[in-house]
Amino acid sequence: MEIFLTNTLTKKKERFKPLNPDRVGIYTCGLTVYNYAHIGNLRAYVFSDILKRMFLYNDYAVKHVMNITDVGHLTSDDDEGEDKLEAGARREGKSVWEIVDFYTDAFLKDMEALNIIRPDIVCRATEHIDDMIEMISRIEANGYTYIAGGNVYFDTSKIDDYGKLSGLKRNEESARSRVEADPYKKNPFDFVLWFTRYKYESHAMQWDSPWGRGFPGWHIECSAMSSKYLGERFDIHTGGIDHVPIHHTNEIAQSEAAFGHDWVNYWLHNEFLIIGNNEKMSKSLGNFIRLQSLVDQGYNPLDYRYYLLGAHYRKQLAFSIEAMDAARNAMKRVRAKINEMKANEPGKFDSTAFEKMNNDFRNAVNDDLNTPKALAVLWKVLDSDTLSNETKLSLTKEFDRVLGLDLLAEEPQEIPREVITMAEERLEARRARNWKKADTLREKIAEQGYEIMDKKDGYEIRRS
Ligand code: AMP
Ligand code: ZN
Repeated sequence: MEIFLTNTLTKKKERFKPLNPDRVGIYTCGLTVYNYAHIGNLRAYVFSDILKRMFLYNDYAVKHVMNITDVGHLTSDDDEGEDKLEAGARREGKSVWEIVDFYTDAFLKDMEALNIIRPDIVCRATEHIDDMIEMISRIEANGYTYIAGGNVYFDTSKIDDYGKLSGLKRNEESARSRVEADPYKKNPFDFVLWFTRYKYESHAMQWDSPWGRGFPGWHIECSAMSSKYLGERFDIHTGGIDHVPIHHTNEIAQSEAAFGHDWVNYWLHNEFLIIGNNEKMSKSLGNFIRLQSLVDQGYNPLDYRYYLLGAHYRKQLAFSIEAMDAARNAMKRVRAKINEMKANEPGKFDSTAFEKMNNDFRNAVNDDLNTPKALAVLWKVLDSDTLSNETKLSLTKEFDRVLGLDLLAEEPQEIPREVITMAEERLEARRARNWKKADTLREKIAEQGYEIMDKKDGYEIRRS
C-alpha cells in the first residue's frame, strides 16, 4: 500500500520511497531541556509518534532516533543570547546538569503519559561531543569553515542551495540584522559550529577541541547524532515548523558539506499549537501550558492526544478548554461504546467488512497522516448497526496501533474504601503475627469480590 507524505524540501505531497526496502529511519529533533515541555512542544512528539506508528502498521521496521538538547541552544535560534540551559540553571539556582536531568526525566514522563512509543534511541548532545568535533573537522577539511573571534563558523557563501528547505532568498533585508548582531560573521546566514569566545568565560559546560576549549553550536548536534545512528543518508527528519528557516536549513548545509552528498530524503514539519490571540505557545513567551496542568484540571493525557489527532498535523491548531472538553467527552463516548461491545454478544467475525473498514482507515493514515479522517472511520465502526461486536473490537484494536489512544485498555478498577480498610487491618494483623485475624479478613475481602495477595512490603488487591 502506498504512503504519501508532504515533503518540506520539495513542497509537495510525495509517494514515500524508503532507502531500504521495508525499513525506515526517522530522526526527530527533541526538546531543549531547560524547562518543562509545553503542550505545543508535545504536539511535535505526538506527530512523530503517529508517523512512526503509521509505518509500523504498514509493516515497516522503524528505527526512530530522538535527541535531547542539553547544550548550545542559545536564546535566539540564530546564535545570539545566552545558552538556554545556563539561563535555566540560574533561574532555579541549580547546576546545569541538575536542570538537564530533571527536565529530561519530566519530558520522558510526559511522552509516556501521551502513549508515545519511546524512540529506539534517545541521545543527549553532551554525550556526543566527540562525534560533533569529528563532524566539524570533516566540514573544515572540506573547506566550508572559517575561524573568527575564536569561533568556528560555517561559511554559507560556499554553497549554492543554502535556503533550499525554506525557499529563503539570501539577499533579504531581514538578513542584515544578523551580521550586525555578530561582527565576526562574514555572511548574514553563517552560523557557529563551535564556540570558544562567545559567553565562554562563564559557560559551565566546556570541552577541549582542536579549536580550543568551548562548546558546540546548536545545529551540529542533530547532524552528528542522526548520522551516527541512522547513517549518512536516511529517510525522514521531523520537527516543528519553526525549525525550517534556521535549524534544519543549517543542519542540511553542514551535513551535505561534511558528507559531500544529499543527506535526508523527506523533511516533515508539524504546524504550531497556538493560544489566545494567534500567539505561538512558547516557553520564552511565558504563555505555556504543561500536560500536568491539564491533568490537574481533570483531563486524561490521552484526551489531549485525541484532541491533537482531530486536526491535521500541517494545520495550525488553536488551543481552548472548550475543545479539550469536547475531546474528553469524545473519549468517554468511545470508551463507553467499547465497554458495551465487550459486555455484549461478540457475534461473528466478518473478514470482508474488516478488510473494507481497515482499508478505509489505511487510506486515511497513509495519505499524509490524515488523522481527522482516520478518527471518522473509527466512529463509523463504533456507530455501525451492521458490524458485529467481534468485528468492531478487532477493527478498534487495529486502528489503535496508529492512534495510540489505548482504547482497549481495561478501565482501572476503583477498589471500594471498605476493602482497602480491611486490607490495611489485615496487614497490621500479619505484622503482629495474628494469623487468625488475617485469615478472617481475607475471607471478608473475598466476600466483597476481591482477592488479596501478600507482597514483600505489603499487599496487592485484585478483583477475583
Ligand atoms: P525546542 O525545545 O524549542 O527545540 O522545541 C521542541 C519541539 O517543539 C520542536 O520540534 C519545535 O519546533 C516544537 N514546537 C515549539 N513550539 C511549538 C508549538 N507552539 N506548537 C507545536 N510545536 C512546537
Ligand atoms: Zn535538531
